[in-house]
Amino acid sequence: MYTKSMEDYLEAIYCIIERKGFARTKDIARELEIRPPSVTEMLKKLSNRGLVRYEKYAGVTLTREGEKVARVIKLRHDTLKRFLSILLISDKTANEDACELEHVLKPETIEQLTKFVRFVEKAPMYPRWLEHFKEYCRAGAFECEHCKD
Ligand code: MN
Repeated sequence: MYTKSMEDYLEAIYCIIERKGFARTKDIARELEIRPPSVTEMLKKLSNRGLVRYEKYAGVTLTREGEKVARVIKLRHDTLKRFLSILLISDKTANEDACELEHVLKPETIEQLTKFVRFVEKAPMYPRWLEHFKEYCRAGAFECEHCKD
């Protein structure tokens, strides 16, 4: 098991490499809003655990294991963000909360959330009940003529 902080670093490094091909200490510091000396500290730790290759002036790359962990976290992040967006949560909060939840939810929960997001997004028509949910959030109540009895 890796700590939340380690997972955040791996995810950040993965995203930076995806964007620009390589990651340097200052890129990681900027991405995570952490001071460069602390980043260097953590990179040593990740390197000792066999998750990154780190040479002081050459930049940072992920090992196979590091990349595996990063991909899982990134996938979790994306799924959780999409899920929270379905709940009409603002982009900023959805992003921030996805970044917390990605470390703590059990695989079973993530799996079901992933299925749910796919189901909602791939449904042939945007589900009616989501429209109803929107209306419910807007008005504080939802009156459905078919549901009354
Ligand atoms: Mn994240």
